[in-house]
Amino acid sequence: MLILLTNDDGIHSAGLQALADQLQPLGRIAVVAPDRERSAIGHALTLHAPLRADEIARDRWAVSGTPTDAVSLGIQSLLKENPDLLISGINKGGNMGDDLTYSGTVAAAMEATLMGVPAIAVSLAAQSFKYDDFAGAASVARQMAETVLEHGLPADTFLNINVPAGKPLGVRLTRQGKRIYEDAVVENRDPRGRSYYWIGAGELGFQNLEGTDFHAVHNGYVSITPLHLDLTNYAAMDRLRQWQLEEMSLDIGNASSRRPNKEQAQ
Ligand code: MN
Repeated sequence: MLILLTNDDGIHSAGLQALADQLQPLGRIAVVAPDRERSAIGHALTLHAPLRADEIARDRWAVSGTPTDAVSLGIQSLLKENPDLLISGINKGGNMGDDLTYSGTVAAAMEATLMGVPAIAVSLAAQSFKYDDFAGAASVARQMAETVLEHGLPADTFLNINVPAGKPLGVRLTRQGKRIYEDAVVENRDPRGRSYYWIGAGELGFQNLEGTDFHAVHNGYVSITPLHLDLTNYAAMDRLRQWQLEEMSLDIGNASSRRPNKEQAQ
């Protein structure tokens, strides 16, 4: 059994270490992770610069790129065999609702899914960012790893798991919730009196809707959301069909009549 671990908090983070320790009994554990924190980098892939992978210990590589780079290098180059499972995490902070598109933790699981490797993203969704006891979340991750290895995952599907602080009350199968991004940008003054801006510094809200990831974690439950990479809004397709877009004749050649170039304007 080969399990690949990565994260977006960097290879030296406590969450990744707790995950590796907990999974050790399951088989060969390989870690390929960014050499520094790359949180909120999303699914970024480094295409225009060389990457380095430093083997800092046996089966532990620090990559000079993003979480997606790390997964790509790990699966396609560094490991000599295909992993049976990828686990990304344990992230310090929740990854729920609309935040998922920013998350490097979740993107790493996406990348593995694209490569046909079953994947799980795990985040510690404590109310306070100071909370850093990863032991409970690591136990949940091990149990879920065993479950996924036993059952496999549906095609093109990976799991996004968020674990509340303390002892969870149980598990809830959830859907992706909704963030409230009010006061997401904080404006302040630097010592020279100029404005600077800090994104995501304030406490963000969420819609407390039953059945969502936010609702489960807020009520003390582990949230498990099955995600897929198909972003198509199938319900919207029915409405857009009424616009008869496919019958529309495109007036591409006439674009210049609306925006005359200099020569015509003279
Ligand atoms: Mn992170």
